Amino acid sequence: MLTGKHLIAGNWVAGDATFKSEPAHGDVHEFAVGTPAHVDTAVKAAEEAFWSFGYSSRAERAALLNAIADEIEARGAEITAIGTSETGLPEARLEGERGRTTGQLRLFASHIEKGDYLDRRHDEALPDRAPLPRPDLRMMQRPIGPVAVFGASNFPLAFSTAGGDTAAALAAGCPVVVKGHSAHPGTGEIVAQAVDAALNKLGMHPGIFSLIQGGKRDVGQSLVQHPLIKAVGFTGSLAGGRALFDLCAQRPEPIPFFGELGSVNPMFLLPEAVKARGEAIAKGWAGSLTMGAGQFCTNPGISVIIDSPEADAFVEAATAALSPVGAQTMLTDGIAQAYRAGRDRVAGVTGIQELLTSTCDLRNATPYLFATTGKEWLDNEILGEEVFGPLGLIVRVSDFDEMMKVARSLHGQLTCTLHLDAGDTAHGRALMPVLERKAGRVLANGFPTGVEVADSMVHGGPYPASTNFGATSVGTLSIRRFLRPVCYQNMPADLLPDDFN
Ligand code: NAP
Repeated sequence: MLTGKHLIAGNWVAGDATFKSEPAHGDVHEFAVGTPAHVDTAVKAAEEAFWSFGYSSRAERAALLNAIADEIEARGAEITAIGTSETGLPEARLEGERGRTTGQLRLFASHIEKGDYLDRRHDEALPDRAPLPRPDLRMMQRPIGPVAVFGASNFPLAFSTAGGDTAAALAAGCPVVVKGHSAHPGTGEIVAQAVDAALNKLGMHPGIFSLIQGGKRDVGQSLVQHPLIKAVGFTGSLAGGRALFDLCAQRPEPIPFFGELGSVNPMFLLPEAVKARGEAIAKGWAGSLTMGAGQFCTNPGISVIIDSPEADAFVEAATAALSPVGAQTMLTDGIAQAYRAGRDRVAGVTGIQELLTSTCDLRNATPYLFATTGKEWLDNEILGEEVFGPLGLIVRVSDFDEMMKVARSLHGQLTCTLHLDAGDTAHGRALMPVLERKAGRVLANGFPTGVEVADSMVHGGPYPASTNFGATSVGTLSIRRFLRPVCYQNMPADLLPDDFN
């Protein structure tokens, strides 16, 4: 049952003002507007909770993560009902995302139980070393303190209230204060109820988790500026992420801001692969581009191809595959408007060719397809900006040298993809050092949508794909964002953290 309230350190708190949800279909609900005062209460409780939670055993935290997963599953039908209503995403998609969310929580439980993430090191004392003896040195990763989490509209479960950032922070031993997303406040609340139930069941400190609904931008701003917050996990737009990142950097005590932002995820189509299976690549691209109305940060918006008759066939096949795709509901009215504005921005570039025009209005999206030359791409930086939605751009380069120039001109990306056959190996090898510098994940012969939650996954990349290229927000490595190394010199065993034993 929805209450419309914030969860602040175990208490369900109403506000003086409310805002209304804007569901794609179904009932409108009212939610309390968050304030800086709510933020202050939640963060102070998180800091208090850190003194026990930050020193809890890995087994205790694993039990919490598993219990949250169980409680989310127990509310599965309720979450799907409110989630589909608020976001317009289909049931099957939300059910899949719920599985990913609970799987992620359980993966972190087993990951911390293994203990490798602590990266324990020991340099034994060398008392007889000349000219100076070496002290006994031990190192271990320790949790950093209260963490703020901002989810994105397009993953109301897996990148939201109890999504990857929250799971990683809790696994590390960091209490979490979530700023609820205004596009899915009800979904956020039900998930918060699940976390609250898990904490109650295990008798853990209620300050470990709070959810403050938004409604006004000052909630998020005061959260990242709160002196007791030690890091921020953010998934969302470049504009929003940059604004909050700058606030973090301007604090008297600057803190790390782990922003996962937008990307155009270019694909490089090499000649032999295009010859052998250009049509199949075009069909696969159309599927990946339009999946979920193109509302994925890994959506492959750009295909770079060398001019040839096979390139003409690829263009034709892509247009044919995209033409029958009907209108899909977008996550919010604002995102639908931004999609159309993005389309106008691309269409306004001199010399651009419009291959597929379609009409969409209200909260709907239909695909758009454009083509340009390598030269126009290199002259128009605007073409490299993300259009969030099912918009594709084919960049026809004159030769492989120009393809290399396009690759070198890219800003940071979450992913870059190569489509290649055995005869393309030399070109592939030439591109690899460039793509590796540009992206967090480089794929061969696939499509970047669908991010595996695993030990080797990197979901990040150089700016503007993320604000911190050393980090990932998906997979077990993401726990490193909420840890810092501490060295213990000549420390008696009784004073060392239990994890050394
Ligand atoms: P968004 O508009 O940036 O919102 C994300 C969160 O930040 C919301 O809670 C929002 O508050 C808050 N926010 C935004 N601007 C703010 C500001 N100036 N001050 C304070 N708070 C602010 O992003 P979105 O529309 O939810 O998500 C779509 C974007 O996310 C796309 O660009 C997509 O590519 C990207 N994305 C990236 C990844 C990744 O892993 N890299 C994954 C998924 C999505 P409100 O609730 O008030 O709007």
